[in-house]
Amino acid sequence: MKSNPGFDSLRAEIVRCRKCPRLVDYRENVKAPPSLADQEWWRKPVPGFGDLGGSLLILGLAPARTGAERTGRIFTGDASSRFLVSALYEAGYANRPVSESRDDGLEYSGCYVTAVVKCVPPGDRPLPSEFHNCGAFLDAEVSLLPNLKGILALGSSAFKSYMDHMKRDGRGVRGLKFGHGASYRLPDGLTIYASYHPSPRNTNTGKLTKPMLVSVLKKIRKELG
Ligand code: SF4
Repeated sequence: MKSNPGFDSLRAEIVRCRKCPRLVDYRENVKAPPSLADQEWWRKPVPGFGDLGGSLLILGLAPARTGAERTGRIFTGDASSRFLVSALYEAGYANRPVSESRDDGLEYSGCYVTAVVKCVPPGDRPLPSEFHNCGAFLDAEVSLLPNLKGILALGSSAFKSYMDHMKRDGRGVRGLKFGHGASYRLPDGLTIYASYHPSPRNTNTGKLTKPMLVSVLKKIRKELG
């Protein structure tokens, strides 16, 4: 990822954040499963990663316990990451189909990927106060994307969180409903797209298949260029 003074400073601020006591305690003490016990764990907030000049923001909920919270890069090193990144590769947004570690050479082109909440929450459920605390970081990330034309929300919580971001930004919009494949033009000219989250609970049950996600990504690529 290319260096950018504004982003580098935001990234440093995110990584040292301790605003949510419950999440600080959880991320620093999360127990490694035996198969990953010999690895060095990140145990800090996980900032976004990708092409800051891209037209698409991809938004997940929070770092995964054995994925991003272990490796230190969003959507890296777990089943959801493998699913998402192989779809991004197929749609032309990634230079390789796998995402395993911070130094694996993965680069995104045309998209920036981040999570609404930057620390892993117990049970994948952040509290309202934690969404609130982390909202300023999402707002700052969005402000650093000068060519942004669209947002892909992975799951209904990410979709709602982007609506909350718009409200904080004084551009609140009501009545938009999350649904896989849905897209809406927003008042500021951006478009929000929705997909089921690529978590094993969706991908293992067939609720979200790779062709479904690739199809959403290809549609976005066609519309946003
Ligand atoms: S969730 Fe966000 S606001 Fe809370 S401690 Fe982590 S980085 Fe800070």
